[in-house]
Amino acid sequence: MDLFAKLPALRGELLLCRGCLAPASHGEAGLCSRCWEGLVPLPEDRCPRCALEHGEDRDCPEPTAWSLGTALWDYHGGRPPFGELLLPGIKAGERGWMRALLHRAEEVPLPEWDADLIVPAPTTPWRRLRRGFDLADAFARVLAVRLGTPRATVLRKTWRATSQTGRPESQRRRMPKKAVLLKGEVRAKRILLVDDVWTTGTTLLRCAQALQSGGAKEIRVLTLFRALRNS
Ligand SMILES: [Zn+2]
Ligand SMILES: [Zn+2]
Repeated sequence: MDLFAKLPALRGELLLCRGCLAPASHGEAGLCSRCWEGLVPLPEDRCPRCALEHGEDRDCPEPTAWSLGTALWDYHGGRPPFGELLLPGIKAGERGWMRALLHRAEEVPLPEWDADLIVPAPTTPWRRLRRGFDLADAFARVLAVRLGTPRATVLRKTWRATSQTGRPESQRRRMPKKAVLLKGEVRAKRILLVDDVWTTGTTLLRCAQALQSGGAKEIRVLTLFRALRNS
């Protein structure tokens, strides 16, 4: 029998991975297991403050206002780079991917940090409205359950930036000091500041500065992804 005659039947059985377009028999949320393996931790020898690899003997060149910072996964991990696929997809409303990602965030090892409050980096209200969800806050909820620590949405973003993707580094770093305002009590508290993806760190910096202005005792940063180089 001619192979071509069988093709329509074959096509009906094959599911293609939405990440790498390879046939996917195992996986989750339309992505094959090989793609999910791209969810990899950050390399070991990185700076404990900015989570970049800039050598141990150099002072951290990144502008930070926190003592320690890390992420669960490397944004550029895997082939195709999985964070680069997943995050824009989730932000475009791919709820299945978000659920699958948060499910993994419920199980991966976390840094052994004590905190009094978990504070998500804020998004602008219009953006939350448009997307119908807030990934940073969803991650904060996961952490609140895992760590048994209260979550507090004490930050408000006032600055309406257009998407940071595709903008030059110099522009991304330009964000007014009052872009993030504190609207809650953080005095003498140890804060775990969380966000979805940490790229230039400008939003995190403004968040941390707002927390500092309110007298936070200690600030540490944990994000889902760290972009280890500019892309
Ligand atoms: Zn795949
Ligand atoms: Zn550093």
